[in-house]
Amino acid sequence: MRIDIVTLFPELCDTFLSASILGRARAKNLFETHCHQIRDYTLNKQKQTDDYPYGGGCGMVLYAQPIADCLRAVQAQCREQGRAAPHIVFLTAAGAPYDEAKARELAQYDAVTLVCGHYEGIDQRVIDAFGDEEVSIGDYVLTGGELASLVVADSVLRLQPGVLAEEKGYQDESYWDGLLEYPQYTRPEVWEGRAVPPVLLTGDHQKIEVWRGEQSRIRTRTRRPDLYDQWCATHPLTELPKWKRGENMRLVKTEEQWQRAAELAAEGRRAVGAPVGTPDVLASLTAEALLPQLLQQHKDGWAFYLHFTKNVPDGMVGVCHRTGRIGCLFVTEVSRGKGIGAKMLDFARKKLPEHTNPTLTVLNTNTRAIALYKRMGWVPAGTEAVYDPAKDAFCAVYCEELRMSYRPPVNDFVSADQQC
Ligand code: SAM
Repeated sequence: MRIDIVTLFPELCDTFLSASILGRARAKNLFETHCHQIRDYTLNKQKQTDDYPYGGGCGMVLYAQPIADCLRAVQAQCREQGRAAPHIVFLTAAGAPYDEAKARELAQYDAVTLVCGHYEGIDQRVIDAFGDEEVSIGDYVLTGGELASLVVADSVLRLQPGVLAEEKGYQDESYWDGLLEYPQYTRPEVWEGRAVPPVLLTGDHQKIEVWRGEQSRIRTRTRRPDLYDQWCATHPLTELPKWKRGENMRLVKTEEQWQRAAELAAEGRRAVGAPVGTPDVLASLTAEALLPQLLQQHKDGWAFYLHFTKNVPDGMVGVCHRTGRIGCLFVTEVSRGKGIGAKMLDFARKKLPEHTNPTLTVLNTNTRAIALYKRMGWVPAGTEAVYDPAKDAFCAVYCEELRMSYRPPVNDFVSADQQC
């Protein structure tokens, strides 16, 4: 690969690219880098590179001509080397956000040219004429594009074969799989009273992998819920209960599945609410009323699953990766008593491995469900809400919404954040 940087400060860029891992890789000809001085392509006697902006305003704007001529020179050099035309990227504060996916995309090109602005920026016409894209390295403004171009060059060049000692080196790192990396530790074992998490000293690689995976998920969920939601959508993490033939769970995705989920939610809520709700409220629990609620919950981070027996949906459950909540656990009347509710609860809990103690809520009048949850390791964890007919028009009798929390059996794997 060849990376060219078009800049007013080529020495600055070259110094960075000559140091450390990239410098050693460049010396081994694992890639080429060339830094070009824009000033060398000016046509005026003073070698001036910028001028006042049309329309007024403060600061100066880089001329189109020297940048265009410099880019033409780079294109000619690539042609002479038998390379494809370089992919030209302008670093601008208003460009598209740069991320690891873009780094991987740029790493596929044989030649990439990075153009750095300065002062107030670059005459837009040269960007329009030559630019394949504009990227920004973050929502802040730098004095020049040099640091930004080096960020791009570094993240792209480290992906070139041979630059890092092992390919696994970058495959384990933050963003590679859409998650942030787990925390790293080195010697000594105890530093200023802080011990390395014991699991890392066991030598048990399987346990360490599990711990690291869990740490990655915890970090991503807490620091970058946006990344975590994207990751959850493509990574089913479930060790499934033993389904019978013709029995399975499907993520609610299609319009038809959302409709069926709303119907099941309505049927379930009416059944659960029957002993406590007023007739008006029970009548209002329809699929039409519940569908927008489910869609809103989905936007808030919930995923819903339908249980199918021989292609007939007869149960549903929802999980929220962000909060570790399980909800909307319903089984149709005809399918009750077959253990489907227990299997769905087990399924939902295993969908949330990053939450050691997931929670759910249940009405205190739903004694059957409470007994099932207790048998499955869920314990009361307080009262979520109190419904009093004197204050709440929708309920006919006093009831409480109880919170329950899953407590793993004591011999289960103890999560790292509990250990530390
Ligand atoms: N007037 C420009 C604006 O408001 O968008 C800012 C110009 S900035 C002071 C000068 C140069 O720094 C830009 O032309 C660009 O090359 C570079 N630059 C500044 N912030 C950047 C960022 N977040 N990402 C990439 N390049 C940036």
